[in-house]
Amino acid sequence: MSEWDETVDFLVVGSGAAAMAAGIRAHDLGMRTLLVEKGEAYGGSSAMSGGVCWVGNNPHMKKYGIVDSDGEVLTYLKAITKGEVEERYLVTYRDESRRMIEYMARKTHLAFDALDRYTDYYPEAPGGKMGGRSMEPVPFDGALLGADFEALRRPAASALVLGKFMITARLAKRMIMLDLLAMMQMAWLLLLFFLRSGKRRRCGGRDPYLTNGNALVARLRLSLKDRGVPLWLRAPRRELVSEGGRVVGAVVVRDGKATRVRARRGVLLAAGGFERNLSMRQRYGPAPASVEWTAGNEHNTGDGILAGMDLGAATALMDEAWWTPTTQLPGARSGWVLVVEKSLPGGIFVSRRGERFTNEAAPYVDVVVEMYRDQKKTGGSIPGWMIFDGRYRKKYIAGPVGPGKVMPDSSLGRKLRTQFLVKASSIEELAGKLDVPASTLKATVEHFNGMARRGKDEDFHRGESASDRYYGDDRVSPNPCLAPLDTAPYYAIPLFPGDLGTKGGLVTDTRGRVQDAEGRAILGLYAAGNTSASIMGRTYPGAGGTIGPAMCFGFLSAEDAAERGDQDQPIDRTSAVVDLPDAGDMG
Ligand SMILES: Cc1cc2nc3c(=O)[nH]c(=O)nc-3n(C[C@H](O)[C@H](O)[C@H](O)COP(=O)(O)OP(=O)(O)OC[C@H]3O[C@@H](n4cnc5c(N)ncnc54)[C@H](O)[C@@H]3O)c2cc1C
Repeated sequence: MSEWDETVDFLVVGSGAAAMAAGIRAHDLGMRTLLVEKGEAYGGSSAMSGGVCWVGNNPHMKKYGIVDSDGEVLTYLKAITKGEVEERYLVTYRDESRRMIEYMARKTHLAFDALDRYTDYYPEAPGGKMGGRSMEPVPFDGALLGADFEALRRPAASALVLGKFMITARLAKRMIMLDLLAMMQMAWLLLLFFLRSGKRRRCGGRDPYLTNGNALVARLRLSLKDRGVPLWLRAPRRELVSEGGRVVGAVVVRDGKATRVRARRGVLLAAGGFERNLSMRQRYGPAPASVEWTAGNEHNTGDGILAGMDLGAATALMDEAWWTPTTQLPGARSGWVLVVEKSLPGGIFVSRRGERFTNEAAPYVDVVVEMYRDQKKTGGSIPGWMIFDGRYRKKYIAGPVGPGKVMPDSSLGRKLRTQFLVKASSIEELAGKLDVPASTLKATVEHFNGMARRGKDEDFHRGESASDRYYGDDRVSPNPCLAPLDTAPYYAIPLFPGDLGTKGGLVTDTRGRVQDAEGRAILGLYAAGNTSASIMGRTYPGAGGTIGPAMCFGFLSAEDAAERGDQDQPIDRTSAVVDLPDAGDMG
């Protein structure tokens, strides 16, 4: 018989969106709940992210007059997953994600606003929408977390304006163009930042105005705190403990000591994906692989997936990721996502042979799939290059390099100028600096320029989908994603097949129960988020298509554990919380 150091009903491994949604629901169902986090900060990739959550037919769409229906949502999910995902998962997600966010809105500090113009990634597919299914968290005052603010994982560098401010996705879309209005908004932000410096000092040097994934996780963290649910930091789960074929707990390292935690109703593995585990990436993913092109959390090393596999769990989609093109700063160990840049007119992606290989403005998963396909065919696209001309440089961002209007070349730091941004006075000279065949690059640019002037990308159809155009420049016509590269100087930045995290993992049923190779549930074991194989298959429905399912299936796992767990151990339902007033909105 095991000896235990701690006993809870539900043990949650991880502290990202999946884990926190599960922790809240588990507590409210009367389960004694504990979250354990390997890192020194909580929130995982969820905190670093845009925090956008995709939920079809969600209650926030009405505010913008957007009509949706359950039928359209299912039609869409079926169309984009192309028969690769069983319908029961799609129906569960459609129905339960909405119930989950409605629950969170009533019972927690979590608040969302629909992004009415953020299109689904395949809006022209049957059931697709031109906006509203992607929702972003309402900005939040991090100071309300008190001492817990300090340990909130910081946003990805790419999510900060000028390396300092967090802004909402709605404002970010407006500011891309940096017209007069955006300039004024920027000046206003600088003033606000200045005025808030006192509060910032009191908050350990961090601006407490939180948006995106930081707002999402801070809101969830405060909701856990209200409930008194403990979250142990620097506490990696080391192994699972099974008895009689049932997972009954885990060994967690706490303060350097192995601590045996009994979990009477189950263990949820919500420890993220394996984006930072090189041997797993090399074993399962496409080649070449790296752990430095990803933008995901540094601690996501596949621990949860490996633990499940040790117990005989089945896995799926292990070659997949939430792909996105990234660039990389010299010496950085993470990718810098290029989500906006790929749609803006005046830039293209090319292989080291100097050829385009895809519609750059396509959904980011598809861009990287095409990059790997080209690599397999020609061996020459990883790494590749994003190239653009002087007009692009002046108006738009290129990774960490702000628009030349506000950040001219002369103002760039030495590292950026000498080790990142490549500059040349002609395409031929640029090709020489990049070690790309000059005649091919010249021909590629000339051919592209002809198509751009006509507003039609006959090769890859860039700008034809409304989703391509979301980050295009509306002032450019006839195609907001196309402009010729014809204004010297010319520039390039490196391009990698990055990701926002991996999406292959443990196979679960529609309640988050981990399955073995015969399709039987491993009793007491649950998985959610990127530890589980994605219910979106090989696709991405729209912004928020990973956080939505992570939270939904974390939530459902908790409900299943409460219903199904060890019936000899009744749970105390009197601890369920009452409705909470919302707090901390900084909208
Ligand atoms: C820059 C960026 C922007 C993004 N934007 C969006 C977006 O707007 N919308 C969207 O849907 N998706 C977005 N994503 C993807 C999304 O953030 C992730 O897919 C999602 O947050 C994964 O959630 P999770 O709960 O599975 O894992 P995570 O949030 O990564 O949490 C896993 C946690 O488990 C911990 N852990 C790992 N191993 C152990 C262990 N052994 N013991 C204890 N703890 C452990 C990790 O440290 C981590 O804190 C973005 C990602 C990035 C990087």
